Amino acid sequence: MSTAERLLRDDLRGFAGYASARSLAAQGEVWLNANESARPSSEDPAGACRRYPEPQPFALVARLATLYGVDTSQLMVGRGSDEIIDLLVRAFCPPGSGRIVIAPPVFGMYAVCARLHGADVVEVPLRDSGADFSVDLDAMAEAARATKASLLFVCNPGNPTGESVEVEAISASAARLAGRCLVVVDEAYGEFAEQDSAASLITAHDNVVVLRTLSKAHALAAARVGAVIAQPEVIDLLRRVQAPYPMPAPSVAIALRALRPEALCATRVRVREAREQRGILAHALEALPGVRRVYASQGNYLLVRFEEADAVLARLLDAGIVVRDMRAMRGLDDALRITVGTPAQNRRLLKALGKTAGGAQ
Ligand code: PMP
Repeated sequence: MSTAERLLRDDLRGFAGYASARSLAAQGEVWLNANESARPSSEDPAGACRRYPEPQPFALVARLATLYGVDTSQLMVGRGSDEIIDLLVRAFCPPGSGRIVIAPPVFGMYAVCARLHGADVVEVPLRDSGADFSVDLDAMAEAARATKASLLFVCNPGNPTGESVEVEAISASAARLAGRCLVVVDEAYGEFAEQDSAASLITAHDNVVVLRTLSKAHALAAARVGAVIAQPEVIDLLRRVQAPYPMPAPSVAIALRALRPEALCATRVRVREAREQRGILAHALEALPGVRRVYASQGNYLLVRFEEADAVLARLLDAGIVVRDMRAMRGLDDALRITVGTPAQNRRLLKALGKTAGGAQ
């Protein structure tokens, strides 16, 4: 039995999920089985949206599988990685007694989903060296083992902290947790980082699950397209708990366009610019008075500690610039997270910050 099958909620064993109207449709010519409108909307004369979409649009699954170097049986698409995080908790955390392990400060959705499903959150804080953060994967794996958690989330690179974890370390933790816990590697910002994807681990490890998204590097946040990569047994279980028709046809259409070779070239150019700008911005921020620390980042954002984060936030807002206030997160009570913008936006930010600190720009 695979790790995922072992960890599946007992009450979901034998549960088949919703049987979509699309599953038999391909065998007929006149589709009268899903109570769709017989005629298209006046606003959609070609009828692109008249019928329910394929639950797992094969063309999109195939293109993403090629992009990430896996088989189509090893990938499922969802409404952003947010939906997939929710599905993982839903499938593998029994109501009232589920448990996940996270390394705060970290992306909030893991804990939010756990809370919504009545699961406990076991925290193994990141180590803060003063110059950068690091994940204590050994301690996380030990916590997962000791608490019998079914999911361990590694955000790689870390949001909001920017650190990354080597694939070898993830592989070692996965081996240690084989049969006991799924190691979920969230690579939402993977394209901006130098490390390799953990997707290469899924053949050897039945408990490694990788999350990818088109929201960041591919610039399609509003389309809500994410993917999960894992062994087919995991994919099969997740499909059973997913909503009937999760992928809106317009989102699938734009995702397919954004995954054509020419568009992927343009994406690489944007990613290169974001990485360059990240370096330039980090350097400029470090030189500003009032800045306590700029953490090294592998994402398209920088976590910055300020002497007076309050005043900085207010002055930036005055200048029409919105950054993310991280001060409610434990250990980050003087920190803001700044997304790397275009060169012009970054200059505007630096100018406003220079004024805030009363120093040079
Ligand atoms: N993971 C991380 C680490 C994120 O920062 C985000 C978005 N902020 C997500 C997942 C969710 O992304 P998506 O748009 O694919 O739902």
